[in-house]
Amino acid sequence: MAEIFHDADADLSLIQSKKVAIIGYGSQGHAHALNLRDSGVDVVVGLREGSSSVAKAQEQGLTVRSVADATKEADVVMILVPDQTQRGLWAAEIEPNLKADAAVFFAHGFNIHYGYIKPAAGHDVCMVAPKGPGHTVRRQYEDGRGVPVLVCVEQDASGQAWDVALSYAAAIGGTRAGAIKTTFKEETETDLFGEQTVLCGGVSQLITYGFETLVEAGYQPEMAYFEVCHELKLIVDLINEGGLTKQRWSCSDTAEYGDYVSGPRVITPDVKDHMKDVLADIQNGSFAKRFIDDQDAGAPEFKKLRAEHERHPLEATGREVRSMFAWNTDVDADYTDGQTA
Ligand code: NDP
Ligand code: MG
Ligand code: MG
Repeated sequence: MAEIFHDADADLSLIQSKKVAIIGYGSQGHAHALNLRDSGVDVVVGLREGSSSVAKAQEQGLTVRSVADATKEADVVMILVPDQTQRGLWAAEIEPNLKADAAVFFAHGFNIHYGYIKPAAGHDVCMVAPKGPGHTVRRQYEDGRGVPVLVCVEQDASGQAWDVALSYAAAIGGTRAGAIKTTFKEETETDLFGEQTVLCGGVSQLITYGFETLVEAGYQPEMAYFEVCHELKLIVDLINEGGLTKQRWSCSDTAEYGDYVSGPRVITPDVKDHMKDVLADIQNGSFAKRFIDDQDAGAPEFKKLRAEHERHPLEATGREVRSMFAWNTDVDADYTDGQTA
């Protein structure tokens, strides 16, 4: 069983005695910076030249510097830019400006675990990874609650790395909910496995096949969209509240019986063999290499795949169906802006 730590296990004064640089002000960055500041920590935000986030961070009362200058002053540097850009920023702006004994923090283990970032032996290397999007991390903190966090130490140069990481976790509200002790290896590999096989890859492919099967059999696409995609949220909410048992309890007996007899006909044992193959590619680094090599080349494969998937008829039907919901009118604006329909 996992070891779980709470507020009483953490010494908030440790992080309060340090200068913390938050690099990036996106989903996680804004939440960490504001929560730390409100917990009495001395925070500076490091942003790239010309960043559109400078004004936002300043409006929220934070001090903003260049990435290099924020790093120079800091005892703890938390890197919260997208995983595929961390290595370049590290080499160009962070590593050359890091104090000799500064701790380097992450919210995901990708770059450390796969060796894309290799901090020198004098630095503590820690992770504090909230199990939720940054906006939830901020909202929960403001409401006096917290989002559970994963905490781990890859390199303990100071002999205090764990205590400082737990202190940081407390300052962003994580230990209000609970901090689970893990390792960079476990966090990285399970995170990639979950998103590839179940949460993103698995679910997307399942929805797509379900939609195609109904439409190819002559059913109306709108009906297919409702039945294999739109209603998924209702099911997921029930699972989130009370596990598979609550979901089965809440559905009709017809649905529950169909779940037992037809689920294993669709998701056959060979799916588990394929999951093991995906896990092997995660463990041996070949997925990471494929992703980073493509990103370094300007992401040609990534962009091609994204364009192909956006063109699937499921997506056009989805836009039409979602527009029927009065409360849903603006939800497509963020991610269809400037992209081809
Ligand atoms: P975001 O995509 O929200 O980060 C955006 C920020 O990064 C912006 O401030 C942006 O700058 C800055 N940025 C982007 N590219 C560069 C660059 N090349 N140089 C300098 N700054 C850059 O990231 P997330 O918050 O989603 O992720 C940060 C980390 O947190 C990742 O390691 C991720 O895996 C992890 N994580 C994310 C979770 C989430 O829910 N999003 C959950 C748990 C962990 P600008 O403002 O100038 O555009
Ligand atoms: Mg992930
Ligand atoms: Mg139904």
